[in-house]
Amino acid sequence: MQGDDRHTERTGQAEQTIACHECDAIHRVPAQLQRREVAHCACCHAELHHHQAANALERCLSLYLSAFILFIIANLFPFITLKLSAQENVSVLLSGPAALFAAGNVDIAALVLLCSIVFPLLTMLGALYLLIPAFFGIHAPATGAVFRLIHRLMPWSMLGIFMLGVIIAVVKLLDMAEIDFGIALAAFVVLLPIMVFAQQYFDSSLFWPPQRRVSGVEMQLRGRASHYRLLHCHTCSYLLRQRDHGEIQHCPRCGDHLHFRKPNSLARTKSLLVTGIMLFIPANLFPVMSVVYFGQDDPSTILGGVAHLVTAGMWPLGLIVFFASIMVPVSKFVAIIFLLHSVRRGSRWRPEDRTRLYRVIEVIGSWSMVDVFVIGLLTSLVQFGGLTTIHPEIGASFFAATVVVTMLATHSFDPRLMWDAMEERKKTGSSNPPISSRRYSHV
Ligand SMILES: [Zn+2]
Ligand SMILES: [Zn+2]
Repeated sequence: MQGDDRHTERTGQAEQTIACHECDAIHRVPAQLQRREVAHCACCHAELHHHQAANALERCLSLYLSAFILFIIANLFPFITLKLSAQENVSVLLSGPAALFAAGNVDIAALVLLCSIVFPLLTMLGALYLLIPAFFGIHAPATGAVFRLIHRLMPWSMLGIFMLGVIIAVVKLLDMAEIDFGIALAAFVVLLPIMVFAQQYFDSSLFWPPQRRVSGVEMQLRGRASHYRLLHCHTCSYLLRQRDHGEIQHCPRCGDHLHFRKPNSLARTKSLLVTGIMLFIPANLFPVMSVVYFGQDDPSTILGGVAHLVTAGMWPLGLIVFFASIMVPVSKFVAIIFLLHSVRRGSRWRPEDRTRLYRVIEVIGSWSMVDVFVIGLLTSLVQFGGLTTIHPEIGASFFAATVVVTMLATHSFDPRLMWDAMEERKKTGSSNPPISSRRYSHV
C-alpha cells in the first residue's frame, strides 16, 4: 500500500499536525489510522505515526507488567551454570557487572550494569508509573518528566543486544565446559519479544490528545516547520511557535527543552566523531580480553577473537562479532563524515537516501555493544581459580568508550540540517514548497 495518498478518502476525519523529526516537513495525518497502518513522511519516508488499537493502553500496561515480572525472575534466579572439572560456577544477571567490578574494570562494569539492568528496569518502572494511573483515568504527577526519561533511556536499554552477547558467550564456551541454563535465562528469552511489543504500544498518544492545530498559526500549514518558526518537541512531537525574543522555550506537554535545531549539532558531532576514531585505534591495537589457563596468560585483540572463532569452525559467530565490532564502527565513522561533508557543501544529492543512511547508523550503532557484553559474561562465567579465568584488558575499555562516543555522535547530528543546507543552496526565492501527499504502508 506504500505510496497511496488516501487523504482524500478521509476528509472529515479528525487530523493531527505532525512535523517530520528528520526533514522538518509538516503533515496533516488522520488522528486514528487504520489497523496495521503506518504514516510515513512524503519527503524522507520517516515514520510519522502508526495505528494505535482502541485498547492500546490496556495492552501496553499488561505487556509492561509481564515484562517487569519476567525481569525480576531473570534477575533473582540462576542465569547460567558452568561446570568444569568438578567445579561449578553459578551466574546470575548481576554476576557480569560484579565480576568486572572485582577485576578492576569499573568503566565496563558500569556500562554493562546500566545498559543490561538499570536502564531497562527504569524504563519498565517509568512506563508502569504512567500506565497504571492512566488505566484509571488519572494523569500521574510529573507525567512529562517521566515520559521524557523513558524516551531518553530507550536507546540505551539493550536487552536484545545483551541476548546476542549471551548466545556468543555460550557458543564460545561449549567446547570448554558443561553448561546448564537456568530459569532466569528462560524468563529473559520470553521477556525480549514482550518488551518489543510493549515499546511499540508506548507513545505520547496514550497520555496526550493529538495536536489538531498549532497555537498562534491560523493559516493552513504547508511546507517545512522552519518556515513558520515552529519548534518541534523530539520527545512527544508537540509543535510550538518560536517566540520573538528568542528565550529558551519548553514543551508545554512533556517539559523538554525546545530547540529550532539540535544545539551546535555539527561541531558536537564532529568532535565526538574525532574522539571515537581516536579511541577505536587503541581498541584494536591492545588486547580486549585475556584467558588465563593454568597460570598461562593468553591475551587476544578483537580481530584475534574473530580469527579464533573462524579457525574453531564457528565462522557464523566470527562474522557476527566482526560485523558488530569492526564493520559497524568503521561504517559509522565513514557515514557520519559523509553526512557532515554533505551538509557543509549544501549537497542536493539524494536527500531521502542520506536521511535513510542516518536512520540506519542510528539503529545499528548500539549493536557494537555486543562484544562488551560478551567480555562481561565471559569474565563472570569463567572463574575457576588456578584452572581457568577470563578477565578484560585495556582494549575493552577503549572499545566500550568508542561505542558510547559514536552513539552520542549520531544522536548529536540533526538530519534536518541536510534539508536546510539544500534549501539554502537552492535559493529559489520560494520559501514555501508545497508538500501535498503523505504515504501510508501496512506492517
Ligand atoms: Zn521527513
Ligand atoms: Zn514534548
